[in-house]
Amino acid sequence: MLVAAVIMGVLGILAAAGLGYAARVFYVEVDPKVAAIEEALPGANCGGCGFPGCSGAAVAISEGRAPANVCVAGGPGVWTNVAAILGVAVEIREREVAKVKCRGGSRAESRFEYGGISDCRAAVLLAGGEKICDVGCLGLGTCQANCPFDAIHLGPDGIPVVDEEKCTGCGTCVRLCPKNVLRLESLSGRLVHLNNNWECLAPCQATCPAQIDIPAYINLIAAGQYEDAVRKIKERNPLPLTCGRVCPHPCESNCRRGMFDEPVNINHLKRFAADYELHSGKHIVPPLAAESGKKVAIIGGGPAGLSAAYYLRRLGHGVAIFEAMPKLGGMLRYGIPQYRLPKEILDWEIEGITNLGVEVNLNKRLGVDYDFAQLREQGFEAIFVATGAWNSRDMGVDGENDLEGVLPGTIFLTKRGLNEETPVGKRVVIIGGGNTAMDAARTSWRLGAEEVTLLYRRSRKEMPANDIEVVEAEKEGVKFKFLAAPTRLIGDETGRVRKLEYITMELGEPDASGRRRPVPIEGSETTIDVDNVFSAIGQFADVSFVPEEGGDSLKMSRWKTIDGNKQTLQTSVHDVFVGGDTYTGPATAVEAIGAGRRAARSINQLLNGQPVVAPPDEFRGPVVDRVHPDELRGLEKEPRAKMPELEPEERHLNFDEVELGLYEEDARREAGRCLNCGLFCFGHGTEQLKKIA
Ligand code: FAD
Repeated sequence: MLVAAVIMGVLGILAAAGLGYAARVFYVEVDPKVAAIEEALPGANCGGCGFPGCSGAAVAISEGRAPANVCVAGGPGVWTNVAAILGVAVEIREREVAKVKCRGGSRAESRFEYGGISDCRAAVLLAGGEKICDVGCLGLGTCQANCPFDAIHLGPDGIPVVDEEKCTGCGTCVRLCPKNVLRLESLSGRLVHLNNNWECLAPCQATCPAQIDIPAYINLIAAGQYEDAVRKIKERNPLPLTCGRVCPHPCESNCRRGMFDEPVNINHLKRFAADYELHSGKHIVPPLAAESGKKVAIIGGGPAGLSAAYYLRRLGHGVAIFEAMPKLGGMLRYGIPQYRLPKEILDWEIEGITNLGVEVNLNKRLGVDYDFAQLREQGFEAIFVATGAWNSRDMGVDGENDLEGVLPGTIFLTKRGLNEETPVGKRVVIIGGGNTAMDAARTSWRLGAEEVTLLYRRSRKEMPANDIEVVEAEKEGVKFKFLAAPTRLIGDETGRVRKLEYITMELGEPDASGRRRPVPIEGSETTIDVDNVFSAIGQFADVSFVPEEGGDSLKMSRWKTIDGNKQTLQTSVHDVFVGGDTYTGPATAVEAIGAGRRAARSINQLLNGQPVVAPPDEFRGPVVDRVHPDELRGLEKEPRAKMPELEPEERHLNFDEVELGLYEEDARREAGRCLNCGLFCFGHGTEQLKKIA
């Protein structure tokens, strides 16, 4: 008995010694920081942070794998305590919510092929995921099943729908989605986002210079959610009333519906949504980020400057526009005539931008009233130059600069924009084939000219004007003389132009622009009677404000425009950015608007102390069409909605707006013609298409 007791005692001592030693060897000391963080967390163990309970979150925070505010159950009090333990400062962070970035794919087929597997991750592991679109949704609802806040569900099409009120931005769905269909987004993030090549881009969006999410806003119009449609458009284009009236809509030339019958009337749908806001009488006020305390100077209040102002304000920066003319709007006001874009509508649209807290300084010309250095002295940390292309090219013919009745078309139109008297005689000749020429011709007819003739040195096919402008000018009786160029202007004894001599041309070999070069036919000179001649053969940027030497002598391109990085629009001077016509040469409003947002993104980077760079996978330009027309089998032909307009005789001697706007039922029906490219991907899609159509 005693022996047994001794043995037990010895064993006990050995066990105790062994355990004591093991405790020393295997003891894991809990990092006091982790313990303190865990203590600070609410202990809800909800998993909303994406980690397995508060202990996991505490370790992740201490190791820097999760931010101090990762706890979605705790709120600001908890975040402040955690930040204090980490020894970091607390800053306001913009709210993020989950967004469905691409929907569709051949989901229905995939569901059956996956043979009963009801979880997206397993389905992808087993079968890959048969997608035309790289990021198509499988529709199996893993996101819905795992959302800790009941903030996501599958909608009627089996596509995730996020309830933004409930979404805490915890990112659980984003982490679990195997097809990257979801992402976390803040509003600022959305504003500075430019198309990326990993996105499921509809051809129209990829072609739009402003990168508007066209299928998304058309979908909203189809659903009668007009205010949401306006908000969606304004994430990319703050001037939809204007663009809905004057945009040459390159998007429509790439619309897939056009491969089947006619392209969707995208631009007039944009105008319809924008007119809804106008007729409501109230500006839709977008949310603004918290004030950054930084200031940006914008030179030029045309579409590029206005667009940059809008996005910089939404990103929380102070903005002051310095404009040389008495009113904002640039060529939208001083070029495009009232009958295409009524000034009251332009005023209302601009007011919606300036109301966001933009300081406006009118009659202030860069290079005359101030220079870059003075702007910096006033505390501006970045400068955006968007001064357009206001100088007109000379025709190079005798009499052009000294005869009364002869003017560049832009000056004629600018005088109208300034409400100055612009009388015209009976016979007006316009030289040129672009939009300025069309506007000068149609304006002259409205002012009472009896015979308006447009002289263009190439053929109709080469005319750079928007097609619709040419068609409307013809309806209004404008005569076209193609393959003709002026050679001389002849005045009377009072110095007024009376005759124009022109020479007939023929088309030779293609020139640098790819168009056939017009060559004069010797001896073909003809003289006609004229009372006015308006030249509109091209414009170029006035960059006289750029000093020739010193730190601010911006690098120029060989076209005498201000040079800048194609993606960031940063010039050779690090705090000066450029965009719009003064960068590209004369282009379009929508291109200027796109440039304004692009510049705003770069300026935002500069102000936030980040490198001014574009992501490497940025995507620009039309997409290669991945759909064969066969994929559109099953659709029924449906004509495109036509814009109601004034009859030509109703337009004479007045400047009433010609295009009247789509009726609501036509707009809804037209929106239904959209094939939702980029929202739905076409694989074996005829069934799906039938459903959509
Ligand atoms: P602008 O609109 O020219 O604005 C530049 C601004 O800078 C102006 O307000 C100017 O006063 C100001 N500015 C200039 N120099 C200074 C300075 N030194 N200091 C301070 N401010 C300065 N595009 C379309 O999309 N559709 C159309 O139908 C169409 N029709 C057109 C018709 C005409 C007659 C013209 C001339 C152009 C048309 N365009 C059209 C082109 C379109 O208007 C321009 O591409 C667009 O306005 C360019 O925008 P922007 O902001 O770069 O320049």
